[in-house]
Amino acid sequence: MDLETANYIVTYFDHLLTSDERGAIQYQYFLPKGINEYKIEVAQRVMAESAEKVYFNNCKKCGRLTRRPQSKVCRHCGHHWY
Ligand SMILES: [Zn+2]
Repeated sequence: MDLETANYIVTYFDHLLTSDERGAIQYQYFLPKGINEYKIEVAQRVMAESAEKVYFNNCKKCGRLTRRPQSKVCRHCGHHWY
């Protein structure tokens, strides 16, 4: 999993995180491997346990992930679907 995908999950699906995970990301405590590695670990756990609850808003044209679940414009190719 790349960091972009991990950030999307931990930001917009934070209700799927445990309170410990949310706290660790918010305050960045006890993260020996660093915040980015931790976000990827958490996002992978979420996908392993609750993949059906995560909505990936992928661009209809290029297929890449948009910035937010509600996005209607692709930051990669500029395609929009208002
Ligand atoms: Zn696109």
